Amino acid sequence: MSDSLKDIVEIKINGLSISINKHFCKGCGICIEMCPTKVFEWSEKLSEKGVYFPVPSYIDKCTKCRRCELMCPDFAISVEVEEGAG
Ligand code: SF4
Ligand code: SF4
Repeated sequence: MSDSLKDIVEIKINGLSISINKHFCKGCGICIEMCPTKVFEWSEKLSEKGVYFPVPSYIDKCTKCRRCELMCPDFAISVEVEEGAG
């Protein structure tokens, strides 16, 4: 696996995918604070950068508002919705 793939944590459900790039994430917690439905929890382990990072453990609660993606200062979050999945 390449370094870039290893850096991505991706969770998918019903055509919705939330990805966190651990290489970009600095562990600021803005996404965790800003998510209206508390989709994220902190990782149990540190990333290679030495920070805890968000894991979208409760993706079933996601409203696809993209606030996390827009608010992340380091462009570490990607929210993707398949066509037809709302
Ligand atoms: S898209 Fe909205 S609801 Fe979904 S994880 Fe991001 S902030 Fe939370
Ligand atoms: S807002 Fe971005 S940099 Fe901050 S913890 Fe979330 S993913 Fe990491």
